[in-house]
Amino acid sequence: MMEQFIEIKAANPDSLLFYRMGDFYELFFEDAVDASRALGITLTKRGQHMGREIPMCGVPVHAADDYLQRLISLGFRVAVCEQVEDPAEAKKRGSKSVVKRDVIRLVTPGTLTEDKLLSPSESNHLMAIARIKGSDEAHYGLAWIDISTGSFRVAESRQARLLADVMRIEPREIVLPEQMFYDAEEHALVDQLGRRASPQPQVLFDSATAEGRIARYFDVSSLDGFGSFSRAELAAASAALAYVEKTQINERPPLEPPQRELDGDTLFIDPATRANLELTRTLSGERSGSLLKAIDRTVTGGGGRKLSEWLMSPLTDPKAIDRRLEAVGWFLNEGRFAEDLRTALRGVADMPRALSRLALNRGGPRDLGALLAGATAARQVAQLFAGRETPEILAGALEAIAAFPADFTDFLTACLDDELPLLKRDGGFVRPGYHGELEELRSLRDESRRVIAGLQLSYAEETGIRSLKIKHNNVLGYFIEVTAANSGPLTEGEARARFIHRQTMANAMRFTTTELSDLETRIANAADQAMAIELQLFEAMVGEAVASGTAIKAAAEALSVLDVLSALAQLAEEQGYVRPIVDESLAFDIVAGRHPVVEQALRRQAADPFVANDCKLSPPDDTTLAGAIWMLTGPNMGGKSTFLRQNALIAIMAQMGSFVPAGSAHIGVVDRLFSRVGASDDLARGRSTFMVEMVETAAILNLATNRSLVILDEIGRGTATFDGLSIAWAAVENLHEVNRSRALFATHYHELTALSESLARLANVTMKVKEWDGDVVFLHEVAPGAADRSYGIQVARLAGLPDAVVARAKDVLTQLESSERENPALTLVDDLPLFSAELHRERKKAETVASGPSPLDTRLADIHPDDLTPREALELIYELKRLS
Ligand code: ADP
Repeated sequence: MMEQFIEIKAANPDSLLFYRMGDFYELFFEDAVDASRALGITLTKRGQHMGREIPMCGVPVHAADDYLQRLISLGFRVAVCEQVEDPAEAKKRGSKSVVKRDVIRLVTPGTLTEDKLLSPSESNHLMAIARIKGSDEAHYGLAWIDISTGSFRVAESRQARLLADVMRIEPREIVLPEQMFYDAEEHALVDQLGRRASPQPQVLFDSATAEGRIARYFDVSSLDGFGSFSRAELAAASAALAYVEKTQINERPPLEPPQRELDGDTLFIDPATRANLELTRTLSGERSGSLLKAIDRTVTGGGGRKLSEWLMSPLTDPKAIDRRLEAVGWFLNEGRFAEDLRTALRGVADMPRALSRLALNRGGPRDLGALLAGATAARQVAQLFAGRETPEILAGALEAIAAFPADFTDFLTACLDDELPLLKRDGGFVRPGYHGELEELRSLRDESRRVIAGLQLSYAEETGIRSLKIKHNNVLGYFIEVTAANSGPLTEGEARARFIHRQTMANAMRFTTTELSDLETRIANAADQAMAIELQLFEAMVGEAVASGTAIKAAAEALSVLDVLSALAQLAEEQGYVRPIVDESLAFDIVAGRHPVVEQALRRQAADPFVANDCKLSPPDDTTLAGAIWMLTGPNMGGKSTFLRQNALIAIMAQMGSFVPAGSAHIGVVDRLFSRVGASDDLARGRSTFMVEMVETAAILNLATNRSLVILDEIGRGTATFDGLSIAWAAVENLHEVNRSRALFATHYHELTALSESLARLANVTMKVKEWDGDVVFLHEVAPGAADRSYGIQVARLAGLPDAVVARAKDVLTQLESSERENPALTLVDDLPLFSAELHRERKKAETVASGPSPLDTRLADIHPDDLTPREALELIYELKRLS
């Protein structure tokens, strides 16, 4: 057996090997040590290998899912090794023969299907990244599959946005070619992907054979029917499929054909922004406190996943956005109807996941039950909508729901019982009366029970032993049991021939009779036959489900869309959100905007209500194709970050098709959203706060367009004052002149407010505070103008800094302020800002071209400094002076 183990383990070196032995999965050697530590289970020993004891631990098969879940979440991969033949077969080969075993599945984070291992409202994506190196920039293909639902998408990417594209999908596991994984150039990316990345042999990503592999998987002769794909996309798609095949061994999960997502279809949000805005998780990694959690009113797992998908990938086509907004608005107008719909939707089970499990032979009767519940809910939903005029997107969804295969529903309704066992081998899931022969077998079984009870009674009478019992166990089957003291009448005289002795226990004796064993055979046969019929019916239902898979999934998808749209309507109503206007303009005009998460938090704490604020970054007129910049100053705790974030969140919500927390909102569609908020150290990767900040700022200044929205919070803070101020200064000028984006810029450098004199579209705003009795009161109100002081010391006092320190700080501040007045070194309101300097140089060049070189230029061109003696040099300086 150990030989077999070692052979199988050698073929799966990266995984813990779950080795099936009876009712346990056993782990050996290092695997046992790792798993026992990770799971907190006892480590034992079994036999010896090369003179050393073999460490071993085991988990019971029935509880394996729980252990798998923990191991997977800790980053392990598990190879599940099962017996693949009947032990009787092995015995036939010889008494020492070992039952054949093989790995039937590799369990990895990206290829899970079990409900226990998945979170209902999160997708579980496996992603493959392929890289095609051409003569110029490398191309990347991305393919992502959720085998728990069958969705399959592909897209192209480029180096500069690769990480952002990956983060948008939030894959649980990423496969990429070994060459790329170990390439120094990709170091930063691989680092960011961390443990999720799994290097795979290059052959998996071969673009020449990709098309063939995909076609084989979907059993089509060419991919023409699926649309057109780039080489990189094909390579990634085929690698993802290859990995699915590799982990699922003999099973082929049913997948949708690959669907292509185009660059520019969705709002580009770089990874830092995604993290900083806490869209699906807070910076500390929790779900609660995220935007998603605050706006999620969905009632189904599929709806939850869809909402998260919409949030992660807001749209950029105003028409598509409007279709969603239209539907949300419709639900709002229909009032009670939306509530009825949501009640019906609550009955929808997770159909795509149930379907995947069934197709992978991992499903049970309850998965069929889930499909039936979904079908029933779908019918109810269709009836609810009957006779109503609906906007486009709802009409489309209803069509898909109406197409739910009725035959399938009728079949399951008739065949499936109400109460369902977890496992098909438990039996008893076929509705009584559905199948004639099954019914006969069942009544035989039930009748046999009565016959046995009768037998017991007659044996008791016959022998005069009142306590005689007929019992059953797995070893003996049915048997007659009497206490040792009572055994006399069964072992004496005539009775000896009738009652056949089977077993003597400490204080009981067991017997059987021909009658009883005949009956037993009949019962066992009936049970076997009944089971065989149930299993046949199970397979028939699964067959139907898989055959109708596409229609079922389309209906499930439609139900998810209804869930999301009606949930957004409920959110809007409950939170008082308004429908935003999203169009092709460059407007950004938010009146009385609020922060969706903070607002709810304040309400929960019964604190003062959230103070709404406007944000107006629209271009000054229709002909200026550039947005405005607001320079926001104000004390710490004044509400600057909240204001910055809320405007970014409003843009995201509007473009995902949600109503927004504002009095009114007009947003010209945003193509890219950037933010640099909060300073998060990345010391683990050896990058200081300042470095991280500069990398992120560089990305913004390189990529932002005049359609982008940029949120910058205190850049330049991580370095010496003048360095930081200069960088912030130059960055704002660049945003205004080159990127021309709509931008919010919060800063502590009050000097920056002077920029409003040189930059036409820059306006200063400040968080209002009131001073009261030496303390500050934050009004959280954004008002025109610049803050005159930073109130740092007051805030420090509020934070509980010792009084003596506060007093001393005040003294120091007074001194510093007076010395600055005497020595006004800082006159940054220069008349030659960066871009005028640039302009000056440009102009100079232009003049030179127009009038030919000046005498000074000609003379300068003739000079060879290395040939000059000191004396000649001095004379030359006098000469040049005269020429200038
Ligand atoms: P800053 O970035 O200026 O230091 P924050 O944005 O972090 O300030 O805000 C500090 C606190 O003030 C927040 O935790 C929030 O509770 C509260 N706050 C911010 N903005 C508002 C607002 N508009 N209305 C009510 N409370 C607010």
